[in-house]
Amino acid sequence: MAALRLHRWVPFSRANGPGYRAVIWVQGCTLGCPGCGNPATHPRKGGYLIEPRALVEKIASYSRQIEGVTISGGEPLQQKKPLLEFLGLLRTQTNLSVILFTGYSWAEVIKMREKRTLFSLIDVIIAGRYDQGQRLAKDLQGSANKTFHFLTRRYSQRDFQDILPAEILITSQGEIVFTGIDPLGLSDCSKAR
Ligand code: SF4
Repeated sequence: MAALRLHRWVPFSRANGPGYRAVIWVQGCTLGCPGCGNPATHPRKGGYLIEPRALVEKIASYSRQIEGVTISGGEPLQQKKPLLEFLGLLRTQTNLSVILFTGYSWAEVIKMREKRTLFSLIDVIIAGRYDQGQRLAKDLQGSANKTFHFLTRRYSQRDFQDILPAEILITSQGEIVFTGIDPLGLSDCSKAR
């Protein structure tokens, strides 16, 4: 059983997709988009390891209060084995929706060997490198080249309009986390992308 390398997770967010959502930021990304808002999530040796089952149990304990889970990073698709295990457990143990950000383009995603399993466990994928020359930072679209892929009927593009661009969270440990697609240019590492 492979562990997931995580940067951080929060149980409640209003700025990372429709409704209240848990958000996980995985640790590790080699894609190197210039201007990335999450450089602290790039090193593969940072963050901490957590068993997928343990993370699902933590998130499931909030499942009556949230609508879904958003997975960001870091690059989630560079940890496919533990990610798929996490997603499989989440699907069987909860009714939570799943949105996944990836820096891989859709053309790259559909070439991945695991794509069928991946697509069966996710509702929406937001794909593509962050391109600072096309910066949008609106409606969960970091830059205009990023593409939305609705894999189930749970959401449509309309559900991604008017999502809060930024929020400040205070965790149970007293940490202050700035998050969202445009967290006012503040330098926290948990920005969505
Ligand atoms: S924007 Fe995403 S894919 Fe690009 S370097 Fe940052 S974390 Fe990696």
